[in-house]
Amino acid sequence: MRRALVAGNWKMNGSRAMAHDLTAAIVAARPDKADVLLCPPTPYLGTVAAGLAGSAVMLGAQDCSEHASGAYTGEVAASMLVDSGCSHVILGHSERRQLFGDDDTRVAAKVARAHGCGLKPVLCVGETLDERRADATEAAVARQLDAVLGLDGIAAILADLVIAYEPVWAIGTGETATPAQAQAVHAFIRERVARVDAARAADMRLLYGGSVKPANAAELFAMPDIDGGLIGGASLEAEPFLAICNAAP
Ligand code: PEP
Repeated sequence: MRRALVAGNWKMNGSRAMAHDLTAAIVAARPDKADVLLCPPTPYLGTVAAGLAGSAVMLGAQDCSEHASGAYTGEVAASMLVDSGCSHVILGHSERRQLFGDDDTRVAAKVARAHGCGLKPVLCVGETLDERRADATEAAVARQLDAVLGLDGIAAILADLVIAYEPVWAIGTGETATPAQAQAVHAFIRERVARVDAARAADMRLLYGGSVKPANAAELFAMPDIDGGLIGGASLEAEPFLAICNAAP
């Protein structure tokens, strides 16, 4: 059985004090039903890393540059995230895709760079509401996935890759995909990965993200191809986030 992973994406929220206190509360609770990953804003990575010392809870970032280093003002290199204690990095989040021009090619380049530096990429894929209405969910997800699955060295990348299915229409909207809707896309993703590496597809963790709350987490995580969640809003306070971690089967 695949052990669940629950990741908190704090997005651009909080303060140093909040990062400190939220980390302390999560560490003190010692969630053990799922692996847990915290992805705070970049300036607070050090604060959260210090709070996680000695804990099994892992640290991740929300994005990184596709470039190794150099004249890219404002960007953060994957190697710097490793230096800061990160094991994971979220890449291709729909907010990056929609607001910051991260197209499939750039996301794939980021995945390659992050993995080359030793990070485990959490690749986000998902359709917009228009794509779902046009019955183009699978086409959209396939396009996003195939950009990564076509990378040189994909066999090694797959060994460390986590994929998060996040329907864009469900992120931060209070709308959640039904467990059946989410399961259908997760099964599609697993089958797509299996075309490249069937064994790895079988044990790869596929997270669901999109308005996951304590009230809906258990039924989503109970689906056969849903192995945890990528949690936005509900990861900003310890109580709901821990309840979601504890909803893992
Ligand atoms: C996210 O930010 O990846 C996300 C799923 O947000 P929310 O849980 O708030 O919908």
